[in-house]
Amino acid sequence: MRTLDRDYGAVSFWLETCGDDLTPRPPLEASTDADVAILGAGYTGLWTAYYLLRHDPSLRVVILEREIAGFGASGRNGAWCAPGLNISLGRLERLHGHDAARRTYGAVFDAVDEVGRVAQAEAMDIEWRRGGELIVSRGTHELPAIEAEYRELERFGFGERYELLDEQGLADRIMVNRGDGALFTPDAAAIQPAKLARGLARAVERMGATIYERTEVTDYKPADRRAAVRPILRTDAGDVTADVVVLAGEAYLTGLRRLHRALLPVWSLIVLTEPLPDDVWASIGWRARELVGSPRFTVVYLSRTSDGRLLFGGRGAPYRFGSPIRDEYDRHDPTHEMLRRHARDWFPALRDVRFTHAWGGPLGMPRDWHPTIAFDRRTGIAGARGYIGHGVSTANLAGRTLAELIDGQQTERTELPLVGHRSRQWEPEPFRWLGVRYVQAALGRVDRIAEKTGRPPRGRSLEEWLARR
Ligand SMILES: Cc1cc2nc3c(=O)[nH]c(=O)nc-3n(C[C@H](O)[C@H](O)[C@H](O)COP(=O)(O)OP(=O)(O)OC[C@H]3O[C@@H](n4cnc5c(N)ncnc54)[C@H](O)[C@@H]3O)c2cc1C
Repeated sequence: MRTLDRDYGAVSFWLETCGDDLTPRPPLEASTDADVAILGAGYTGLWTAYYLLRHDPSLRVVILEREIAGFGASGRNGAWCAPGLNISLGRLERLHGHDAARRTYGAVFDAVDEVGRVAQAEAMDIEWRRGGELIVSRGTHELPAIEAEYRELERFGFGERYELLDEQGLADRIMVNRGDGALFTPDAAAIQPAKLARGLARAVERMGATIYERTEVTDYKPADRRAAVRPILRTDAGDVTADVVVLAGEAYLTGLRRLHRALLPVWSLIVLTEPLPDDVWASIGWRARELVGSPRFTVVYLSRTSDGRLLFGGRGAPYRFGSPIRDEYDRHDPTHEMLRRHARDWFPALRDVRFTHAWGGPLGMPRDWHPTIAFDRRTGIAGARGYIGHGVSTANLAGRTLAELIDGQQTERTELPLVGHRSRQWEPEPFRWLGVRYVQAALGRVDRIAEKTGRPPRGRSLEEWLARR
């Protein structure tokens, strides 16, 4: 149950420290008309508005947000503005061909730079730090995965952007317990996620967009061109009728009847330390604030905040029957405790350090792990979703591409195979619950066995096939 005086700062450390008082903007109070109506004031909705208005400042753009701008994953994430996608180059190649796979990953590289460029141009202080990204191997059983990843990147022409580091090369950057190598790229940046979302919201308002907060979209209606009916976003306070409706609610879209099985809400959770004393940082290194990850199946992601805290995030919270999204799922004690344990295992120097924050949020997983950017001119419905753990950069690409599609432009982005992709629906319950819970548990087992035996996963089990696709 939401209350009017909700404490949005408690949602994440990022919202708490973004410098805004987080008072909601006024809600929609009556039906209205727009050129473009957008559901959701996260990165996807805000980037779409930004590029639309940059191209045509006269457009009437209305954004409807159930809570406040940046309330969703955009105000809670692990701070990684990084290249890559959850769908591998190899699988993109199998689906769309070598060139399309290469262009897709190339576009995500560009999106990383574009986020930094726009932040600078719009004078948004998003604490941008382009320190690169390290995928760290901890034990010989993890080395083959990063070596294979490097070979694949090389095969697609991205080898020059990456470097395989040996144990010493890794230690020169960061001292990780049992770290014995890493895959490094300089082309990634740490950001303050909520400052990006809140800064974008202010930027699009300056450009003329109207954001209604505390305004829930309860349904949407496609256009019926024959009857000259335009698409609509419905709310309890009234309808927004527009030429184009953009669905940018990511995981939360599953709350809409028509999109209930389009995505699976998967929780990613985060723990954060107090600012670490200088001697602890001296023992860890990590001076360039690189983003740090792992090739394990049970995803973990780390970053160092600008005020000297260590963020440790990961998945692992169990999928809930029927895909409900509730605020109380943002905190899951067993998973948060596991993340604290992992953090201390990575960095024994954290032994006596306090963890001050724990939060999380849902991200949207499509059935085939394939992001979608789509605009159907006939129905007037546009939308983008399914970035899984790579939404900071990909949402920029998606918003920019959606704006180009809506505007009728043809660019290198509108030709990407993410455009117009249709993922199949998730299975109805109870099959969805049974399947997802099985895979979640099995992948954890694969990692544990590899760690125990010191042998890399053989890649032959069903769950590995599903996860590596
Ligand atoms: C804990 C966590 C860590 C992550 N870490 C990273 C990372 O380090 N790097 C990375 O690249 N990606 C990461 N991701 C993913 C990334 O943050 C998301 O992919 C990205 O922010 C999605 O942006 P979005 O605008 O599409 O969705 P959101 O940011 O989720 O925004 C959707 C908005 O729509 C609103 N909304 C939904 N339904 C309705 C409705 N019916 N009516 C009105 N409004 C509605 C929501 O309130 C929300 O504000 C992480 C995600 C999580 C949850």
